[in-house]
Amino acid sequence: MIFKSIVGQDQALSKLKKDISLKTITHAYLFFGPDGIGKKMMAKSFAKAIICPNGGDTCNCCQRIEKEIHPDCSIYTPEGNFVTIDEVREITRLASMVPMEAKTRVIILDEADCLTEPAANALLKTLEEPPGHNVFILITSNVDAVIPTILSRCRLVKFNTIKSNLIKEVLNQKFSLTKDEIEQICRLCGGVLASATQMASNPWHLKLRGLVLDYSSGRKLAQPNDFVNEMMELCKKSANESLENNIDNEIISQQFAVDRSHLSHLKKVIKQKEKRQAAKQSAKAYEEALDYLASWYRDLLVYSESKSSDLLINLDYFDEIQKSCQNVDGLDKVKSIEDIQSAQKLIRLNVNTHLVMENLLMNLN
Ligand SMILES: [Zn+2]
Repeated sequence: MIFKSIVGQDQALSKLKKDISLKTITHAYLFFGPDGIGKKMMAKSFAKAIICPNGGDTCNCCQRIEKEIHPDCSIYTPEGNFVTIDEVREITRLASMVPMEAKTRVIILDEADCLTEPAANALLKTLEEPPGHNVFILITSNVDAVIPTILSRCRLVKFNTIKSNLIKEVLNQKFSLTKDEIEQICRLCGGVLASATQMASNPWHLKLRGLVLDYSSGRKLAQPNDFVNEMMELCKKSANESLENNIDNEIISQQFAVDRSHLSHLKKVIKQKEKRQAAKQSAKAYEEALDYLASWYRDLLVYSESKSSDLLINLDYFDEIQKSCQNVDGLDKVKSIEDIQSAQKLIRLNVNTHLVMENLLMNLN
C-alpha cells in the first residue's frame, strides 16, 4: 500500500487517488498547508504511484524513491532562503531530458515560496509547456508568498492540520511517553504531526519552550538581555544537533548509491552543503522560540475572554496565566502577538536576530 504512511490527510489523498485512477494526473501540482503535516511524504508517495510499475511500495523502485536516489524522481530543497536562478536552470535542464527508467519523471520542489521572481520566471516556461514526461510537485507552507503566475499553472492540493486523536495514536505507537506528556505535546503541536514527533524525540524543543514560558510568565525572573543570550545559545545548539542528524541520514541514504571508498569525500561535500543550511536551521529554531512566546500571549487573550482553561495551550502555566490576566488588557495582547509575528518575519529576512529579539522584548514590556 503506497499511501499507508500518510496520517490524516483524507481530502488531499482522495483527490490524488482520483487523479491516479481516472488517469487525469496533470503536469504541475502545488501542495500547500502548514509545515510538518506530511506534504513531502505525500509527494514521495504520489511519485511512487506515478513512477513505479509494480504498484506496491516495498519494491526496489519505490525504495529508491523513498531514499531519494531514484534517477527519475528528483527532490529539490533550496539550500539557502531563496531558490536561485541557477537551481532553477538545473531543474529545467533536467526536465528537458527524457526519463531514464520510467515513462514519467517526477520533480519535487520543496519550499516553492522561496522562488524569487527571476527564478520563478525561468521555471514558468517549463511549467507552461509540459514536454509530457514530467510531473512537477511544488510544496509550500506559505501559499500567499508563491508568485501568482506559478500558482495559476498548478493544480492546488490543500493539506490540513491533523486531529489530535490521530496524533495521540501515532505518539502512543512510536514513543513510550506518559499520558500527561502526550496530552501536553498534543496541546503544543497545534495539529502538526512533525512537531509532535520532534517534541517527543528531541528534548531540546520542550527545553526551549520551558525557557521561553518561564521568562514570559515571570515564573523565573531574568534580565531581557540574559534571556535573549540563553535562548540564542539553545537555538544554536538545537540547530547544530539537527544538522548532525541530517548529515548522518544523508550519508546513510547515499551509502546505497556509492562505493564505500567515496564516503569520506562525500561526507566533506555534504558537510559544506549543511554549513550553508546552518543559518536556515537557526532561523527555524528562533521562529519556534517566538511561536512559544506568542502562545503565551494567545493564552492570556483566550483566558481573559473565556475565563476557562479548556482552550489553553500552556495549561501547565495556569496559575501564571490567571495572575497575568488581572492586569493586562486585551488590546495589549493582540499587539504583542502582532509584534512577535513581525519579528518572525524579520528573522526570516536574515535581519540580525539579537537586535530583533531585544527590540521585541523592549516593546513587549
Ligand atoms: Zn514500487
